[in-house]
Amino acid sequence: MVVSRRIVLHFPQRIVERAIVCRLVKDFDLEFNILKASITPEQEGLLVLELSGEQVEYDKGIQFLTKTGVHIQSLSQDVVRNEERCTHCGACVTICPSRAFELDPATRRINFHNEKCVACGLCIKACSPRAMEVHF
Ligand code: SF4
Ligand code: SF4
Repeated sequence: MVVSRRIVLHFPQRIVERAIVCRLVKDFDLEFNILKASITPEQEGLLVLELSGEQVEYDKGIQFLTKTGVHIQSLSQDVVRNEERCTHCGACVTICPSRAFELDPATRRINFHNEKCVACGLCIKACSPRAMEVHF
């Protein structure tokens, strides 16, 4: 069975420069799509990935990451938009790192693509009508 999950990887400083993620492809035949990356030398790194592959290999890949010292957090938070509150002001469009918001030029309304969201929470602070909500 093929699985696909969005996960957040936290790399402690001591392993931040090691080529760890490419081993997921080479050793476990997994595919990944990087949704967000912020890794800087001398600091903790953060990577948000969509990781997919056969369940057995996926589990082995996760075990490998854990053994190397990577802290894994599943993206269990779901960010949703309260359509009644959204005024389509557009304040969220440029702030979203994963481009989950898009202006429809025909209607001048802002579309929200939940499947692109990596639950960073930035739009929640930026939305003054409080239309963006996080559900656990
Ligand atoms: S900032 Fe809030 S109100 Fe404005 S378009 Fe985005 S979700 Fe809608
Ligand atoms: S929480 Fe908001 S700003 Fe962050 S990725 Fe999701 S939609 Fe974009």
